[in-house]
Amino acid sequence: MADRHPAPGPPSETVADWDHRHLWHPFTQQRDWRRERPLTIERAEGTDLIDSDGRRYLDGVSSLWCNVHGHRHPLIDRAVREQLDRVAHSTMLGLTHPAAAELAARLVELAPPGISRVFYSDSGSSATEIALKMSFQYWRQRGGQHARRTTFVSLRDAYHGDTLGAVSVGGIDLFHATYSPLLFHTHRVEPGDSDQLECVLDFHAEEIAAVIVEPLVQGAAGIRLHPPGYLRRVRALCDRHDVLLICDEVATGFGRTGTMFACEQERVAPDFLCLGKGLTGGYLPLAATLTTERIHQGFLGAPEGGRTFFHGHTFTGNPLACAAALGNLEAFEDEGTLVRLQPKIRLLGELLAGVAEMPEVAEVRGRGFMVGIDLGEHDPTLRLGHRVTLEARERGAIIRPLGDVIVLMPPLAISAADLRRLVEIVAASIRAACASADGEQPTTELAAAA
Ligand SMILES: *Cc1c(COP(=O)(O)O)cnc(C)c1O
Repeated sequence: MADRHPAPGPPSETVADWDHRHLWHPFTQQRDWRRERPLTIERAEGTDLIDSDGRRYLDGVSSLWCNVHGHRHPLIDRAVREQLDRVAHSTMLGLTHPAAAELAARLVELAPPGISRVFYSDSGSSATEIALKMSFQYWRQRGGQHARRTTFVSLRDAYHGDTLGAVSVGGIDLFHATYSPLLFHTHRVEPGDSDQLECVLDFHAEEIAAVIVEPLVQGAAGIRLHPPGYLRRVRALCDRHDVLLICDEVATGFGRTGTMFACEQERVAPDFLCLGKGLTGGYLPLAATLTTERIHQGFLGAPEGGRTFFHGHTFTGNPLACAAALGNLEAFEDEGTLVRLQPKIRLLGELLAGVAEMPEVAEVRGRGFMVGIDLGEHDPTLRLGHRVTLEARERGAIIRPLGDVIVLMPPLAISAADLRRLVEIVAASIRAACASADGEQPTTELAAAA
């Protein structure tokens, strides 16, 4: 094979200039962004990101929670290249292709019992949106009393994506409050409180299409855990009232919490399983909404009968993305990723016990390779979480906080040595950021704290 050394890109000053003039970054206050020189990631190797000056950084949040086996993994690279030599894109509307069909079969094998159908999309938001629309339409088509099931139960602090349906079932005010006039009503319950859910279902079940949850861990809420047994209880309550259960495993799927899917840990089989992020090993935008034959059957009928699921995106089931996802699953098998993950989860637990003892740290929460280090309540103008990020960058790691919760989500493939280094860097960065923030606090606050 020919050497694959890509030509050098434009100088980083040019990139920064173009960026500051023309880009608009997601979840980012552009005013502050434009005051900082952007870090330009040019390439990557394994679990390292490499900037335009050749500096290396540990990818401490898996490139926003999605990388699994590291970057430029030979199996996934090969799968994508081979697909590129066949076709990059062809539509799923009226046609099929080998990678989409094979991937669907493989996903059904891996999914909890009862799951038999795969509907593709290209983001986690779409995957949850599709589950909402499918469950709603399912009950409509059942007719009679069932057609009254038009609303949803969602959890406070939930995050299911940024499209308007996903935002309607979201519960993070900072992200969602602005859009409230555009959203549909849901029954919002306290995370982890199954008595409250029971109450809502007792009173309102016949108007509820589905309950939507992030199993075990609410990620964007700041890595918040549900009590053990909660998901099982939610499943039992849904069964009792014939309400559908949507498990949003966009973040927790593909080994993130230690098992392939988080719902396995409570032996729960959902009616809808939403997948994204790690589905392609973090390579390409692909998401999927998996469901049961019961739901699929509810959509069968004559074309003029209106039971078609009228939803699909231009790039639904994109062949390159499906090939990457097949490469991802192959890597899980070939490398025994989940088996090799277990001792690293134990090591991470040991390392974090030390972090939890730090005076700067209020609480450490986590499950598997999904960790939040909570720095407690601070004046938001200090941007403490962001300061920790900048300190970590100086020390050779990329992380991204949720407010003042420092998130650690390394790729599952990270080595034990790099895991150790990552936690050391983060601990040192927390210490440095807190010290520098302390120095800047208004004297009145210091006096009050003393
Ligand atoms: C990230 C995330 C989503 C949204 O996925 P996108 O690909 O960013 O649209 C949905 N649900 C959960 C639980 C997530 O963590």
